[in-house]
Amino acid sequence: MLDCAIIGGGPAGLTAGLYTTRGGLQNVTLFEMGIPGGQITKSSEIENYPGFFDASKTGLDFMDTWQKQCFNFGLKHEMKKVASVEKIGEHFTITLEGGEVQEALTVIVATGSTPKRAGFNGEDTFFGRGVSTCATCDGFFYKNKPVTVLGGGDTALEEAFFLSNICSDVYVVHRRDEFRAAPPTLDRAIRKENIHLITDSVIEEAYGGAMGLDGVKIKNTKTNEVTDMKNSGLFVFVGHNVNNGVLKDKKRNFICDMNDRGQVIVDLSMKTSLKGLFCAGDIRIEAPKQVVSAAGDGSISALQVISYIQELS
Ligand code: FAD
Ligand code: NAP
Repeated sequence: MLDCAIIGGGPAGLTAGLYTTRGGLQNVTLFEMGIPGGQITKSSEIENYPGFFDASKTGLDFMDTWQKQCFNFGLKHEMKKVASVEKIGEHFTITLEGGEVQEALTVIVATGSTPKRAGFNGEDTFFGRGVSTCATCDGFFYKNKPVTVLGGGDTALEEAFFLSNICSDVYVVHRRDEFRAAPPTLDRAIRKENIHLITDSVIEEAYGGAMGLDGVKIKNTKTNEVTDMKNSGLFVFVGHNVNNGVLKDKKRNFICDMNDRGQVIVDLSMKTSLKGLFCAGDIRIEAPKQVVSAAGDGSISALQVISYIQELS
């Protein structure tokens, strides 16, 4: 029986692994379906993690030491995908892909979320090298420069507003002439003089070279006219998939309370509605979707797990 099963090896899961093992739990396993590190390993640089200032390091380099640190304190790692988590009596059953089952007293789910891709040519090639899904993370790289934003929802327009305070001009490309965003959010964007709304338009292609993105070709779907926009930052905000599949039982019902966007409802202790189950990082409600906050969540959930196990004995 594991003291704690941690599902997901991004910043939240790895920090939970560090705090549970260093806090004295002997039997903690982290299940990660790929290489530990999470979404940030897709980034070519990280500038906003406090205390870390090395422009030559990629997200992969940055996360490498996180794993080494917690494996040093005895965290076990299984490179396996978790299919589901269920609570049977007082224990949790973790079913791995392929059918193997493990039992645990507590579970921390830190499986993150995945920004949706829009599907235009060049999106994957320049992802992390000019194409971004995070204005807070990457906006500063384009200080006083023009950028393009794709999407017409609340996220796209809120992030466009955020970028408009850093960048010289923000060109918001949306495929329809009506916006999905709430009217006050749209109004605020319209009123900001350096935000330019380009409607009925799609990104036909993002292009560039070895150094990254050089520009985007924007096609008006009504006139077929193509505009070549030379700028080196393209922010894609076309929705998120929350990685909440492990929290569905055999009848495909969620085992804990979720909001209508599929995010896990937690309190400030990262407790879910199911005793012994904690969630941390991008999967939870109101997640700021930052490495530093995911790590904070991981530490909080781990400390709560330690208290929970102490109360059981
Ligand atoms: P994730 O990092 O998403 O990690 C979840 C992990 O769970 C993944 O490794 C995944 O493989 C694993 N997993 C999922 N499902 C399963 C399963 N069923 N079984 C086993 N494992 C599973 N934030 C910043 O603060 N600064 C930045 O500069 C920055 N830049 C970014 C650049 C890019 C390109 C991207 C995509 C994100 C960036 N972010 C940045 C956001 C940051 O990466 C995330 O907020 C953070 O990684 C969330 O951490 P997490 O641990 O909650 O989830
Ligand atoms: P969203 O509401 O699903 O909007 C996604 C946008 O991207 C839509 O405008 C959509 O166009 C466009 N889009 C989708 N796929 C595309 C593609 N392949 N190519 C080009 N464009 C594409 O997502 P979101 O903005 O992330 O918001 C998610 C939820 O969170 C919403 O319920 C939103 O209200 C909520 N939210 C609320 C706040 C707030 O209250 N402050 C802030 C952020 C988000 P169409 O419109 O044509 O479909």
